[in-house]
Amino acid sequence: MPRTVPIEKMRNIGIMAHIDAGKTTVTERLLYYSGRLHRMGEVHDGAATMDYMAQERERGITITSAATACEWNGFHVNIIDTPGHIDFTAEVERSLRVLDGAVAVFCAVAGVQPQSETVWRQAQRYHVPRIALINKMDRVGADFYKAVQSMETRLDAHPIALQWPIGAEDEFCGLIDLVDWRMVRWDKDGEENHQVISDIADSDEFAEEAELHRHELIETVASVDDELMEKYVHDEHAITSAELKQAIRRCTLASQLTPVVLGTALRNKGTRLLLDAVVDYLPSPVDMGEFTGTKPYEPDTEIVLKPDDSEPFVALAFKILSDPHVGRLTFVRVYSGQIKAGQQVINARTGRKERLGRLIEMHADERTDLQELRAGDIGAVIGCKDTTTGDTLCDPKKPITLMNLEFPEPVVHIAIEPKTKGDQEKLGRALVRLSDEDPTFRVRANQETGQTIIAGMGELHLEIIIDRMRREFNVEASVGRPMVAYRETVRGSAKVERRFVRQSGGRGQYAHVVLTLEGGKKNTGFVFVDKTTGGCIPKEYIPAVEKGCRQAIESGIVTGYPMVDVQVTLTYGSYHEVDSSDMAFQIAGSMAVKEAAPKADPALLEPVMKVEVIVPDEYTGDVIGDFDRRRGRLIGMESEGNTQVINAFVPLSEMFGYANDLRGRTQGRATYAMEFDHYSVVPKPVANEIMEKMGSGFRF
Ligand code: GDP
Repeated sequence: MPRTVPIEKMRNIGIMAHIDAGKTTVTERLLYYSGRLHRMGEVHDGAATMDYMAQERERGITITSAATACEWNGFHVNIIDTPGHIDFTAEVERSLRVLDGAVAVFCAVAGVQPQSETVWRQAQRYHVPRIALINKMDRVGADFYKAVQSMETRLDAHPIALQWPIGAEDEFCGLIDLVDWRMVRWDKDGEENHQVISDIADSDEFAEEAELHRHELIETVASVDDELMEKYVHDEHAITSAELKQAIRRCTLASQLTPVVLGTALRNKGTRLLLDAVVDYLPSPVDMGEFTGTKPYEPDTEIVLKPDDSEPFVALAFKILSDPHVGRLTFVRVYSGQIKAGQQVINARTGRKERLGRLIEMHADERTDLQELRAGDIGAVIGCKDTTTGDTLCDPKKPITLMNLEFPEPVVHIAIEPKTKGDQEKLGRALVRLSDEDPTFRVRANQETGQTIIAGMGELHLEIIIDRMRREFNVEASVGRPMVAYRETVRGSAKVERRFVRQSGGRGQYAHVVLTLEGGKKNTGFVFVDKTTGGCIPKEYIPAVEKGCRQAIESGIVTGYPMVDVQVTLTYGSYHEVDSSDMAFQIAGSMAVKEAAPKADPALLEPVMKVEVIVPDEYTGDVIGDFDRRRGRLIGMESEGNTQVINAFVPLSEMFGYANDLRGRTQGRATYAMEFDHYSVVPKPVANEIMEKMGSGFRF
């Protein structure tokens, strides 16, 4: 079967925005005006199609990266929903990996907000070309020019305005399209009455200013694009719209410039032009060029493939969702090759076969069956059993691993208990499903108390998960207070000798080890080095020693929190012909490490967050003073008009409930964002307080 849409006419895009900038409303309008959606939902009436999870509707924020599709002028546009809240960074990164381009939505009143910056930087890191939409032009205080400027100052971007607004706030009624040199006007019905006036008369009141902006636009593009520069030098007025468009496209694909369009999604103005900009300026899968992977389990052997149907099949699983009707859905992006429903592929990580039973295209919570998926396509698969987020699915004859996605370790945990016996089983099932969908959400049992502990990237992340448990799985559970995921380490070194000997009739036990425990490099976890010589411990027992050490280290020694960034060097030992065993050496290793830790200058580590607050001048002192009380460290401050942008490192333990606190302190006039940055040593007095609260007798 031939392709229905040529690959050059495909766009895989994401919409990135600060919460409340209007991402959901924009997505809805894109679907509606491209003819995909027949009824318009409103975020505030809770019917938005993309936000299909019940509690997302209430919160009005989008957490799940669903994918949906629409057609525009013969182009096929896949929209991959990227989450906006920072607790879901991992999801943002995952979805950026599979996008070719993105639309950044900013509010015309607020301009660039802290959260948008983080997402923008991530997009930069993954070289995702972007265009921007300045939304909410209808709001009181809307200022297109200022919003574009904030992209320059806050994001270090090179925005180029492709349009200029006619009127603002209540009076916003149209725009000048600087590229096609035409005027677009709307009445109160918005897009339903999209009026294009193609000749702007010189006498028109906007003509002079708009001329100036067009000239600026051409000049900026020419300064970056040699081809346009040549024409510009020759005769600026001879440059055609098509030539200008091509030049802007080249600069956008190279991430040199960011085209900016404007509108108001809520009032239905500007959506069609946004769709035009998506197809005009954002890349197709072919524009992204060749891509590289490696041979499974041979990270040094690179394989280069082209985004082409004739190449071997390669796809990346970027999202798992449990759908109440069809079960487990695996969202994939196909990079090359093609596959038919029912065919088998191989999962490069597990080496096992997966049958892609059904292939479907998602449209919010509706779905269409597809016969096949081809290079550049995004679709959901039913039938994958062992595939998780980040796995590569490929041709069994041509196995390849695409870059594996790394996920940060969760920093907050909460104890959770089922309310009744009946809830117990449901809780277990819910937790398995939820952690299956979300690699940054973990579940473990506390050995001592028997409690179940859930861990995630932040308070909100866990709140949402608990909420989903209630709604989707009907589990009633009592939850504890959020707790910080501390770690321990050692900063010095200690050498210990340990014998494990049992003589109790029958066969005895014997193992003897000498080892050194010391602090290692950052982010190395646990490193084990065997330096024994002359077979004092037979090679076959060495893995058992390592296993014993690892078990002790992973479950934590002085504080009960997992130990990280330490090295164990095994230097000597002895064994017994009859009594030695794996078990004996494992116990000896574990005992030795437990004995060494308190002597090696142990320390408690805590997650430290990078916090950014944007606040009106008059509250600056308050916010900084408050950081002091929270053991924060100021890292920078910048003023922007009458607001200050304050950056600080603050321990996570001091940040619980910050949202409410900040709101009270600043009469709700500050916004903030935070993300995990690093682990750092807890000062001794604070660490000892934590030990005391935990009921531990240990003191640093
Ligand atoms: P998201 O959190 O980024 O997905 O943003 P939403 O689409 O949920 O929008 C947040 C709020 O802004 C909702 O109350 C919308 O109705 C409102 N909103 C969205 N677009 C516009 C707009 O163009 N103008 C105005 N005035 N409000 C808008």
